[in-house]
Amino acid sequence: MVPETESVVRPSRCLIGCGANVGSRREQLDQAIDMLRFMPGVEMLQVSRFVETQPIGGPPGQPPFLNAACLVETSFAPEEMLDMLAAVENTLHRERHTRWGPRTIDLDLLMYDEQVITTERLQVPHPRMTTRRFVLEPATEIAADLRHPVAGCTLRELLENISQRHLHVAVVGVPGSGAAEVAAAVADVTLARLLHAPTALPGCSPATAHQAEPPATSRAWRERVEAYAAPLRESQWPDDPHGTVADYWLEGVRLAADAWLPPAERESFLSAFEQVSHETVCPHVVLFLEVRQQTLVERMAYRSHATDSSDVFADLVATQAAAGGKRGVAALMGLQEAMAECLLHGGGCCPRPKAVIHLAADDLGRAVLDAVAAVEAIA
Ligand code: ATP
Ligand code: MG
Ligand code: MG
Repeated sequence: MVPETESVVRPSRCLIGCGANVGSRREQLDQAIDMLRFMPGVEMLQVSRFVETQPIGGPPGQPPFLNAACLVETSFAPEEMLDMLAAVENTLHRERHTRWGPRTIDLDLLMYDEQVITTERLQVPHPRMTTRRFVLEPATEIAADLRHPVAGCTLRELLENISQRHLHVAVVGVPGSGAAEVAAAVADVTLARLLHAPTALPGCSPATAHQAEPPATSRAWRERVEAYAAPLRESQWPDDPHGTVADYWLEGVRLAADAWLPPAERESFLSAFEQVSHETVCPHVVLFLEVRQQTLVERMAYRSHATDSSDVFADLVATQAAAGGKRGVAALMGLQEAMAECLLHGGGCCPRPKAVIHLAADDLGRAVLDAVAAVEAIA
């Protein structure tokens, strides 16, 4: 009998992603998996086959990877498990010189039960797993029904999500986040069809920048929603094997309207929005660009001195002009928060996208590289 003071600790289930692309890849994967298998406090449940995959995102000219996944049961806490994985990596001479560079072994903690964990050193589920075929294929082989707590679906569904024939990727961010630049770069690399927002954010287009406020009538916003929705209509979605990348998200327009419309106008706008939204293709993958307030302020200041106009600045300037100085930036930060909330918890008219990749857009060059890597991992 278990004494009352002694609680029975149920072991946790961890999904681990493994990869190697230098040295004896197969041996290193075998050794890493054996080290986990014989580690006190860890019980190996399943190991996937090894698959060869092309390197993604790192320096050019790297050799191909061998990837695998394994499922273990453990009494280790999440950060202890991360330390154990690092210890195995160190034993197998893992070196870190360049980001996504060549490695003898990489062990990532993909999932820890259905926990969502964010600490300085650890993010679980692994933040880039939802678009990585080299992760999802081996993981699905051994744990198809495991439920991803953020995506709200199983690993099998995540793999199906990125295996659509006409994949729709939306690059989402407030004006000034760089969505147009990032979407253009992604489309360029992947050959996807590029959909550009027909105007800057509703009520904030350069044409209406002289107005003191964005339009306050539901009718004006409905017209804009029609323009945004037109290229996304299911009925005319083209048979394009390279997929589509849009630099906007229809739900973002709804959230902006919600922030700017007077309460009396919101209801009629929302019912019109719902109708239009149901006829459109929802994004399978969202690349969400997040900026700090200071970045928006600096981009704004820089733009007033720059002679050429790029999208990232043009729509930001227009928004500023429309919503007025500092208040404009604060409004954009509020909109960004509303977008993040909607991507995490849903509540929009479209089903919540299963794959959402968060990108820090304060360094646009880095955001472009990360966005391209996230989308290339789908192929
Ligand atoms: P990626 O994470 O994109 O697959 P990588 O595996 O090459 O890239 P590493 O150099 O192995 O990246 O790890 C960088 C840091 O990521 C580690 O120091 C670790 O603390 C942190 N990290 C955060 N979350 C996780 C996780 N779920 N699994 C593994 N490492 C993580
Ligand atoms: Mg990794
Ligand atoms: Mg790693």
